[in-house]
Amino acid sequence: MKSQSNFSLNWSGNTKATPRIIYPKNLEELKKIMSEKNFIIAGNQRSFGDNSINTNLIVSMKNFKQILNFDKSKGIIEAQGGVLLKDVLGLIVEAGWFVPVTPGSKYVSIGGMVANNVHGKNISNNQIKHHILELKILNENNEIVTCTPTQKKNYFESTIGGFGLTGCILSAKFRLKKINSIFMNQEILEFTSYNSFFSLLAKSNLYEYNVNWIESFGNGSIKGLCYFGKHENNNNSDPLQKFNFKEKEIDFFNYFILKIFTQNYYLIKLTKFIFRKFKKIFYKKVSGFDEFFYPQDYFINWNKIYGKKGFFQAQFLVKENNFKDIMNKIAKFFKDEKIFSTFIIIKKFDEKGKYLNFYGQGFSISMDIPINSNFEKTKNFLNSIFQEYDIKVNFSKDSIANKDVIKNKEEYSEFVKELNLISPERKFNSIFSKRLEM
Ligand SMILES: Cc1cc2nc3c(=O)[nH]c(=O)nc-3n(C[C@H](O)[C@H](O)[C@H](O)COP(=O)(O)OP(=O)(O)OC[C@H]3O[C@@H](n4cnc5c(N)ncnc54)[C@H](O)[C@@H]3O)c2cc1C
Repeated sequence: MKSQSNFSLNWSGNTKATPRIIYPKNLEELKKIMSEKNFIIAGNQRSFGDNSINTNLIVSMKNFKQILNFDKSKGIIEAQGGVLLKDVLGLIVEAGWFVPVTPGSKYVSIGGMVANNVHGKNISNNQIKHHILELKILNENNEIVTCTPTQKKNYFESTIGGFGLTGCILSAKFRLKKINSIFMNQEILEFTSYNSFFSLLAKSNLYEYNVNWIESFGNGSIKGLCYFGKHENNNNSDPLQKFNFKEKEIDFFNYFILKIFTQNYYLIKLTKFIFRKFKKIFYKKVSGFDEFFYPQDYFINWNKIYGKKGFFQAQFLVKENNFKDIMNKIAKFFKDEKIFSTFIIIKKFDEKGKYLNFYGQGFSISMDIPINSNFEKTKNFLNSIFQEYDIKVNFSKDSIANKDVIKNKEEYSEFVKELNLISPERKFNSIFSKRLEM
């Protein structure tokens, strides 16, 4: 069982700690860890928030990387918690299958995808929970529990999007999506007002995937690009094949350019404006799935451009009738305080859910914000907006929400009630769970 300490433990580099990190090699070693009282399980530590960080001990699942079963005819796969999504894709794509929901990075583990109930660009059923058939979980009593949507239902539902607090996900079985090609048809369309944005969204019924990138917003205006896509369906022109992913580290030149242009209030505006104009015209109508789903994996360590302090991502769901109001308020705050977001994504959202899942109807807004001297002010401002508008926060990415945001909500008390039954000793806990007093 290798052990080491580290200090930047999540993707956004915004939470520092010096816990021990251990890498159990097998179930026996994993079971020994249950004698500890205070730890969290980690997958590939690609979370934006602090839910895979415990200040005492992190138990990495990196050695649990076996694909246990792949039924090529039914499209069902079972994989250990530490298997990376890129390795699942490496196996299933050439056999004509794809993951039914994928986050924007393929360097995430299956356990992490389940525990954070990841979502992607799907227009409907956009959370991994819709496709999970079975979980095997090692609980804090050192018992292996098998649960499904009908068997030990509450355990199943509270583990998906349960932030690793209900036990260690040893393996997950889930349903795949049939594809006929490794290519995607895509369309990228520009909007320059709320009206044009809303009318472009009506195109969603022609596609399977949609995501919307925002260049600028405020004072009743919004500009950006709508991305639409669907899997190419031509059986003959592009046979399925083994896909080799390129892993490229950021080089000094790109690091320098990205750091300068994305970390400055004025230069980021210019960069975004040029990107919108360029992308509106020059985009590929047919692209590989890697380029379509995982553009952020182009440099596998782009998070480094945010430096030692890192950044944070806030993702929250606003009701349709509050959408413009909230966007205007955020824009005003940003302008007054010279705060900026490097990357803003908006998505129409309609999900049912339970416990602390990210669910509801409206628009999901996600913003990457570099951490600087304005951090506390920004954090307080966003928390006040969350409370004022009764906003749902995506806790799987969160590192800033106050307990006040959820303390009176039924979904919070129901989740804590479930944890009291499943993990009464709270051996599995994190900076996140302590912050929100779970
Ligand atoms: C470039 C990029 C793009 C992204 N895009 C999206 C996106 O579009 N949608 C989205 O939803 N997310 C997105 N994410 C976030 C990422 O998909 C999730 O945070 C994912 O959970 C990370 O997986 P991981 O293996 O790194 O998990 P970690 O960060 O290691 O852990 C995440 C959580 O899962 C728990 N966990 C991990 N493994 C296990 C296990 N075996 N048993 C029990 N608990 C476990 C941890 O305790 C923690 O609470 C993105 C991340 C990056 C870096």
